[in-house]
Amino acid sequence: MRTDPRVCVCFSSFMLCASFIFAQAGAPPIQAPPTELPVLEHFSPDVADKNLDPCNDFYKYACSKWLTAHPMPADEIAWGPAGPLDRWNHAVLVQTLQQLSANDPSRAANEQRIGDYYYACMDEKNVEAHSLEWLKPELDRIAQIKNKSDIAAEVAHLHQTIPSAWAQSDDQSNAAIMGFSAQPDYDDTSRSLAQFDQGGMTLPGRSYYLDQDEKAKEIRVKYVKHIEKTLILAGENRAQAKADAEVVLSMETALAKVAMDPIWRRDPKNLNNKMSLAGVKALAPSFDFDRYLTLVRAPASPQYIVTTPAFFKGVEVLLRERSLDDWRTYLRWQMLSGSSSQLNDAFVQESFDFFGRTLVGAKEIRPRWKRCVDGVDGNLGEALGQAYVQRAFPPENRARVLQMVQNLETAMSKDIDSLDWMSPETKARAQEKLRATLNKIGYPEHFRDYSSVQITRDNLLANRQHAVGFEFERWVGKIGQPVDRTEWTMTPPTINAYEEPTQNTINFPAGMLQPPYFDMSRDDAVNYGDIGAIIGHEITHGFDDEGRKFDAQGNLRDWWTPVDAKEFEARGKCISDQYTQEVPEAGPGVKQDGHLTLGEDTADNGGARIAFMALKEALAREGKDVDAQESDGLTPRQRFFLSYAFGWCSEWRPELIRLAVLTDPHSFSKYRVNNTLANMPEFSVAFSCHQGQPEARVNACRVW
Ligand SMILES: [Zn+2]
Repeated sequence: MRTDPRVCVCFSSFMLCASFIFAQAGAPPIQAPPTELPVLEHFSPDVADKNLDPCNDFYKYACSKWLTAHPMPADEIAWGPAGPLDRWNHAVLVQTLQQLSANDPSRAANEQRIGDYYYACMDEKNVEAHSLEWLKPELDRIAQIKNKSDIAAEVAHLHQTIPSAWAQSDDQSNAAIMGFSAQPDYDDTSRSLAQFDQGGMTLPGRSYYLDQDEKAKEIRVKYVKHIEKTLILAGENRAQAKADAEVVLSMETALAKVAMDPIWRRDPKNLNNKMSLAGVKALAPSFDFDRYLTLVRAPASPQYIVTTPAFFKGVEVLLRERSLDDWRTYLRWQMLSGSSSQLNDAFVQESFDFFGRTLVGAKEIRPRWKRCVDGVDGNLGEALGQAYVQRAFPPENRARVLQMVQNLETAMSKDIDSLDWMSPETKARAQEKLRATLNKIGYPEHFRDYSSVQITRDNLLANRQHAVGFEFERWVGKIGQPVDRTEWTMTPPTINAYEEPTQNTINFPAGMLQPPYFDMSRDDAVNYGDIGAIIGHEITHGFDDEGRKFDAQGNLRDWWTPVDAKEFEARGKCISDQYTQEVPEAGPGVKQDGHLTLGEDTADNGGARIAFMALKEALAREGKDVDAQESDGLTPRQRFFLSYAFGWCSEWRPELIRLAVLTDPHSFSKYRVNNTLANMPEFSVAFSCHQGQPEARVNACRVW
């Protein structure tokens, strides 16, 4: 499986939240799918609140007018100018799916599959009537576990039927006990190896199990209650469910204790532990690896990566010390928690109550049609994405984005050359890496063929299981094979972007190449300020504190002279110190750790700088000046920075801010704007800020 790709916008650490954040945009709550496409938000120079001082709090200056005029609707957990884009994307997708959900045997296989998947998901009556029947064989399997070897067999089954065994996040895999997948060999990325990763926890990160503050304790109490209620829905009596819920928490807490800290995981050297299969087995002799690997049909791997050997030693202790009864309970919970969203309304509401309300502060669940659209996107995403691209991303849009990416890369190249602290030797290696970057815009060259996935119109749970099985097998099948750089790990309608360090690619799904991020109706200043800075962010990831450890081919290889590496680290420390700060919006005493966000913050800073350089060059080619006042009363420089901030404007529920500050490697939106711009003299010029004002730091940080 991949090294954690660095996504630029949203969470990479908790997939569930990612779907809640953007998938809940929509006001007022729409229960029926929209018949018309919603209006997209476009940048306007009027966004600025001229009564405020831009040098004091630029985020407020650029965002408060919009946010005041568009209060967060009750069913939202995050809301900003990107909200309408999420509504628009969902509307495009649902119209497609409604059309395809009519039964038509003459249709292409991919199209009929996504239509049938949507149909089965929307058939609420059928889901209500059959959920318990669908669950029965799953519960029976677990009840029949008779020995430790059966545990490995059930783990294999859960990995083949419940998402996230391969969908590694920055912190952990959420799959039962561990993650298993293919990962490009860190030292020779032309081939993939098998990788075992830490996992097995349900809460968003290990800190949720280990922190001892009042809020953390309160969340755990609610989590135990949630487990108990879910077990009751699955047929347990109250006393048993109560006791079992405590067992689950104690087992997951034991896993959290032996899991690697997310800040340590940011250094790929800490994850690159290669061993023989015998070495893997020696870490946890009580886990039947042979049976697991046979059942998931894993090809033999030249070597095996174990991201966290200490974690697997901890699993061994759990396997030895816990009763089979405890293990059956843990696995039953893993199965139910991973299946709840595909079951009847009681399961869905219970799951939402904890993961939506308690964890991220949501007030209302998204309408069913939106959840079903997300289900198709999450499970047969490239088939749905193909339809999306046809409708929403014409070739001329792609061409303009590609041109911008190339201009940004030229700016990055000049930026590297201009650095006074880097030796010519390291500069040459950096340029080589930049030239080798593969730019992927909008959608894959070849859309995935899902014709081997069995999808019916009457079993939502089985459909999801089959789609998950297909995807899991696809990942496992990469073991021992050459790496395919053209593949994507995000679907085309996704509002996000990422950089893949072991493949040296930057990837921009079509779902994000829309207003307000990318806008064909707006000038270069607006586009470079928004999507340009995001492109720059992904380019810079290849050169942040993590990305710089990978070479042009994506191999984990040190290409820096020791002196240059030291200079780099000193500049990074400026950033991590700057971003280590209290975040009052997340609750009293909640502090962001700038070491966790260092890579993202470095990318934000570098991205904004090279985007601005690229804009200046683009204007110069047309004989225009970045500081010439134009008819809207603004200079292109001012529009650039206003557009930069506008893309980040967003209001979040406090619960979500807390979750993000504790687990997300990205800074909170306000700081992505204010801290970044305060480091840029280019910004001070735009609004005549004086050094020492909040938006013009005396000790400005700069890496790139
Ligand atoms: Zn990023």
